[in-house]
Formats: sequence, structure tokens, C-alpha cells
Amino acid sequence: MTGNYRQPEVNIGLVGHVDHGKTTLVQALSGEWTDQHSEEMKRGISIRLGYADATFRRCPGMDEPECYTVDEECENGEESEPVRTVSFVDAPGHETLMATMLSGASMMDGAVLIVAANEPVPQAQTAEHLMALDIIGIENIVIAQNKVDLVDAETARNNYEQIQEFVEGTVAEDAPVVPISAGQEVNMDLLMQAIEEAIPTPERDPDADARMQVARSFDINRPGTTFEDLMGGVLGGSLVEGRLQKGDELELRPGRQVEEGGQTEYQEIQTTVRSLQAGGEIVDEVGPGGLLGVGTGLDPSLTKGDSLAGQIAGPPGSLPPTWHSFTMDVELLDRLVGGEDIEEISTGEPLMLTVGTSTTVGAVSSAREGEAEVNLKRPVCAEVGAKIAINRRVGTRWRLIGVGTLTE
Ligand code: GDP
Ligand code: MG
Repeated sequence: MTGNYRQPEVNIGLVGHVDHGKTTLVQALSGEWTDQHSEEMKRGISIRLGYADATFRRCPGMDEPECYTVDEECENGEESEPVRTVSFVDAPGHETLMATMLSGASMMDGAVLIVAANEPVPQAQTAEHLMALDIIGIENIVIAQNKVDLVDAETARNNYEQIQEFVEGTVAEDAPVVPISAGQEVNMDLLMQAIEEAIPTPERDPDADARMQVARSFDINRPGTTFEDLMGGVLGGSLVEGRLQKGDELELRPGRQVEEGGQTEYQEIQTTVRSLQAGGEIVDEVGPGGLLGVGTGLDPSLTKGDSLAGQIAGPPGSLPPTWHSFTMDVELLDRLVGGEDIEEISTGEPLMLTVGTSTTVGAVSSAREGEAEVNLKRPVCAEVGAKIAINRRVGTRWRLIGVGTLTE
């Protein structure tokens, strides 16, 4: 652990239409290119969740916003002081699936909505992602009007007005709109200031039982690694509350599928924490907030290829129940993004449900107004009261139609 080490304390989502500059912005702030989330080794374990950390810093003796930087050395030659380390949750490159955005959203404490200045507002995913933030209840939002280097002043002004009009009456109504060029790294200081002001670090209980949302899982071993050198399976995600220490016992729910007496069921998984990585460092203990990697004693074949994504991890016996079916209160949107009406949920129809970082298909076994009972294809681990993003197949795509609350 170096003297400069700071654990990331807040998760900030990057949302917006494809090619509007999400990954470019993460790179400008963190120096990492999140699209290359290869399963590589770096100080033992390297996690590129499609996520990256950045430490916002301030230059002493300079005014806001110019004082904000991600560099250790200031323009005036002084050394900058760290303010806060943030984790950025970026959808993988060209990922247009709402499911990915929604499962990331369950870890977001706030979001930067990126809108390109050189296209009419809103583009399809701009609208759909904003709707998702609204539904999931992510209220701390900064709007980055990107690519201002590509347009003249008048176009930028018109586009700014279109953005204001578009967010009127939504959760982003009062969000600051910051003109930037992520590509040219223009106004990064203004954007950092806006993020510092609009997206505070939430209060979390470090003394509660550890509760980790698993967003990804890997096998970090190179092909051909011998048995003695084999590293255990790695989990990536976020600690919502509590602490994790090297050596802690860990349980994962819903766990894995096992065959027993011709029956398929799920059994929780038990393991131990062998190593921890946060903020690019190997550490002995992590607190809540930010993204982290957990090296475990699990057989890496169990964790490879995100097979444990969507699970919850914590001390044995402390986790919420596993649901194979549940009833949810349902609140449908007025209409789909794009304007089509949304019909009531009907018995028998398949829905795609996102609960925490888990996405599963559920068949509706019974539907009444404002309520639906679903049988899940894959079980989920969740508390009563958990929020559920509800998607319906419309044409060839899953479309967000509403939000559910798990009741029983
Ligand atoms: P994403 O799909 O939202 O992650 O978008 P990317 O970050 O991959 O960017 C899409 C394209 O837009 C890439 O070719 C970037 O180089 C380009 N781009 C991103 N930000 C800017 C910017 O501020 N100015 C200009 N001119 N191009 C940009
Ligand atoms: Mg991208």
C-alpha cells in the first residue's frame, strides 16, 4: 500500500447514448481505457470491471473551478491534494443492452449523463437511460454536454436548450449541465466541481455485516497454469455496507446450481477472502463504497466468464433470502420511450427483471392491477422491499416498462 492510497468511496455511473463519449470521459479522468477489461494480472489480481477509479485533487492556492485536477502536479508547480477517489461504472464498449445499464445502476450512487452536443436531443438511449435513473431512484445527476469542440457557439447553445427542455419534469431537472470536450480534455475541472457538489458520498455503515453486490467474476489464470500456481476465483463488485478483511469467510447467494436426486436446485457457496484489491492496490481490508476485487478460495472454473455476476456476498448466515418466485407491487411507466402506450402486465408473459446486479427472466404466473407474481428462471437473493426494474419484450428488444417492489 502506498502513501497515496485512497479507497474509492463513491460509485458514479456513466450513462448516455452510444458514442456520446462515456468511455472517453472515464479515460480522461482516470487514465484508464475501460473498454479493455481483459482478465489480466497486475500486482497479483487486476480487475477491470469496465470500471475505473479516479482521484479528484485540488491545487492549493487556486480558485474553483481551476483548482480541480486529476494530476499530482499543479500548473503552478505545487503538489495537489487528494479530495476524493471515485469509481466510474461504465457500460462495456458498444453495450446497448438495458440489462447491463440496469444492473450497473444498482451500484450507482450518482450518475453523469453524457449528451453529445452535435446531435439532436434526446437520442434513444439518452432518454431510456434517464428514465432508468428516474425509476431506480438515482437523483444525484450531472449532465455533461460533450463534444463541444465539434460545434460552433450557436449550435452549442441550441443543444443546451434542447437538453434543458428534455430534462424538464424529470429527476435530472435541476442537474447542472457542464459543457465539456472529453476528447480534448476541456472543462474537466468544471465537471469535477459539479460532481463534487451534486454527487456526495452516501453515508454507509462500516460496522454492519459486509454486503457485496457481485457485478462480475473472473478466472485470472493464464491457460496452462499448473495446479500449484492456480489462483482462486475473483469477484468484482461493490461493498454496499460493512468491511471485508483478508481471511474473512464469505457466503454467496443464490449460489450455484446443483443436481440432487434428479432435481435442480441452488446451493449457497462458501469460501474465504484470500486477497482484496481496491483503488488499484492490494489491501488487507476494505470499507464500504467504490469498486473492489475479491480474490477467493473458489475453484476458478466457478467464477469464470461472469458466472457469479448478480450474486450477493457476505458473512455466512447474514444474507437475504433466495427467491425462486416472488410477488411484486408494480408501477408502470405512462408510456415507452418513443411514445407507445404500455399495456398492463398479463398472466403468462415473460419479463426481464433486474434485481440488484442480477438480471433474470420471470414468467408471470398471476397479474392483477398494480401487482404481479413471477416464477424466475434463475433465483435471486434480495430483501423484501428491493426495487426491480421491469422490462418487456417489444419487437426485438427488451424495453423498460416500469418498476416493481418485492413484497413476498
Ligand atoms: P461511448 O460509446 O459513449 O463510450 O463513446 P466513446 O467514448 O467510445 O466515444 C465515441 C467516439 O467519440 C470516439 O471516436 C471518441 O474519440 C469520440 N469522442 C469522445 N469524446 C469526444 C469529444 O469531446 N470530442 C470529439 N471530437 N470526439 C469525441
Ligand atoms: Mg463506451
